[in-house]
Amino acid sequence: MNRRRMLHAFKAEVGEYEDAAALPAETDPQLYLSRNRQPQPFHLICSKDNVLSLMSGSARVHLRDSSVNRFKMDVGDHVYIPAGTPHRIVPVSEGLMLRFQPAEAGLQGAAWYCDGCDSELRRYEWEHDAGTPAVRYYSAACARFSADEAARTCGKCGAVAAPVDLAAYSWPPAEAPAPSVL
Ligand SMILES: [Zn+2]
Repeated sequence: MNRRRMLHAFKAEVGEYEDAAALPAETDPQLYLSRNRQPQPFHLICSKDNVLSLMSGSARVHLRDSSVNRFKMDVGDHVYIPAGTPHRIVPVSEGLMLRFQPAEAGLQGAAWYCDGCDSELRRYEWEHDAGTPAVRYYSAACARFSADEAARTCGKCGAVAAPVDLAAYSWPPAEAPAPSVL
């Protein structure tokens, strides 16, 4: 991507955790853009290695099942996310986040963990589809988690996680049919 085009992408209106594909469909790896203000409302799990790169603002990235579980990101910092590692972005200030991911990204998942005892509450998975914006899957997974109190109830300690306030993220409304997440 040349610099002028990259600058154009930085000014683009992208939403929180939208992971909007920024390069032509055949480009590998693909580059995804999000402009984040609030904590990511789930942990994302990607079956291939990802690299996050912060272009503005500052953020923390929380990883699970990893030797280093917390990264602080400032402008220009990169964080390598090994395949299969649940990770969640928690902005310190609003910023533009780039995600590099192989074009054939394979299985993706959204997961939630108990605030009380840290057990996994629920995980929904789907197959990456370059023709469907990632945010539609995120939105469907969050809606499903929110609607299912049993999914939000910890099997170990009984704590009940709050539903995700989807309105706060200004994501496009779930079109019918929403993509399937299992
Ligand atoms: Zn628990």
